[in-house]
Amino acid sequence: MQFLHMTSINPATGDAVQTFPVLTPDDTKAKIESAHAAHLHWQRTGYAHRAQLLMAAADYLRQHQARFARLMTDEMGKTLREARTEVEKCAWVCSFYAEHGAGFLADETIGTDASKSYVHYAPLGTVLAVMPWNFPFWQVFRFAAPALMAGNAGLLKHASNVPGCAAAIEEVFLESGFPQGLFLNLHIPSDRVEQVIRHPHVKAVTLTGSDKAGRSVARIAGDCLKKTVLELGGSDPYLVLPDADLELATETCKNSRLINAGQSCISAKRMIVVAEVYDDFLRLFMEKMAAVTFGDPTAETTGIGPMARADLRDELHLQVVQSIEKGASCILGGQIPDLPGAYYPPTILTDVKPGMPAYDEELFGPVAAVIRAENEADAIRIANDSAFGLGAAVFTQNIARGEYIAAHKLAAGSCFVNGLVKSDPRLPFGGIRDSGYGRELSLHGIREFVNVKTVWVK
Ligand code: NAP
Repeated sequence: MQFLHMTSINPATGDAVQTFPVLTPDDTKAKIESAHAAHLHWQRTGYAHRAQLLMAAADYLRQHQARFARLMTDEMGKTLREARTEVEKCAWVCSFYAEHGAGFLADETIGTDASKSYVHYAPLGTVLAVMPWNFPFWQVFRFAAPALMAGNAGLLKHASNVPGCAAAIEEVFLESGFPQGLFLNLHIPSDRVEQVIRHPHVKAVTLTGSDKAGRSVARIAGDCLKKTVLELGGSDPYLVLPDADLELATETCKNSRLINAGQSCISAKRMIVVAEVYDDFLRLFMEKMAAVTFGDPTAETTGIGPMARADLRDELHLQVVQSIEKGASCILGGQIPDLPGAYYPPTILTDVKPGMPAYDEELFGPVAAVIRAENEADAIRIANDSAFGLGAAVFTQNIARGEYIAAHKLAAGSCFVNGLVKSDPRLPFGGIRDSGYGRELSLHGIREFVNVKTVWVK
């Protein structure tokens, strides 16, 4: 079925927010061609000029922070408090690459038999970004800031439930002085992504989203021999060892599990607690989870807002119900409230075992799976017993031991000791296994969409 319009629905109220026409195939082709034309000019500009425009984008984001935050809240339900922080983080990533991009991409001389040989980083061209709704600004900016700084053009296929955010992001680049066409939003449904990937002017694709979407995009890009970066789902384990500071561990697990109403790829999804401290952990964790309120995301005192869509809430609830049917115990929440809006309460499942959705799958909402481990080795085994490998955290007062486990024992892209797994422009971000491949942010992120070119002069 072809949709002629794309409408965002406020998940707190069910009301329509904004409607946009879906691009026709011809309009899509014209946008790809505009981006390509803009890239041909842009690649000849210098880093200083690009950095200046990225700083202007950071300023524009800050000037319009309240409006953009409200738009995110209206389209996907995150609290206004979190939405404001998200806009600020986008400004940070723009200024980070404005400041460091030129250094990350400077020529690197390498001594060989040549009179001169070096590595030169050249942009690839137009890059398609297929993005999710959960951090509707941040996910896009963490791709766009380094990609544009490197001299590429960007095409955005955003999630269908946040078309207003997609349009606003295009506005940011245009209003901050980036050339017309260099960053364009494509209002298209996911079954039209193939047309874009196959277009000869599109040189690479990055997708943040589910492993199912990642596999589909990678298959098509592979057929065209185009580079992909995939940032997919996760089921991050948080290990709590017998000597952990339980106050810190429970507070961090609660915060990580409930950030963005639990809809974060790097949320703490499996709390793996060693038997000796299991009961104490559970008591404290339950107290903290139970104290979090859910409700109107625009109210400053709300703990968590609604989930982004009612169908996603219903899918999560089904995972909870199926886990309980297979023997899990629900000790908090687990019921859909009798309220308008896509709400789901903070929920805790215990007695979680392999074969249950709460153990095997990603729980993309405010549901914590707490798993008892016999000892440290068992906790590490359970942590790695997952199809995913995005983030992981370990709590222990033996810092050297925690660091050893993080560096050498946990199979994930980011391993934190005594802290919440988070993205930071200065550090690489990405996963292994079904969590994807490639890296965003830091030096590694800006080098994903470049031609690492050898120049050799006799
Ligand atoms: P999703 O359904 O995979 O959608 C993500 C994006 O992909 C949307 O723009 C969607 O478009 C598009 N899409 C879906 N199926 C596609 C297909 N077959 N071909 C091309 N494009 C397709 O994921 P989501 O539910 O929005 O987001 C949640 C998932 O993203 C979770 O698994 C989460 O962990 C993951 N995530 C990962 C990271 C990370 O950095 N690793 C960060 C955030 C989220 P439509 O909206 O039009 O369907």
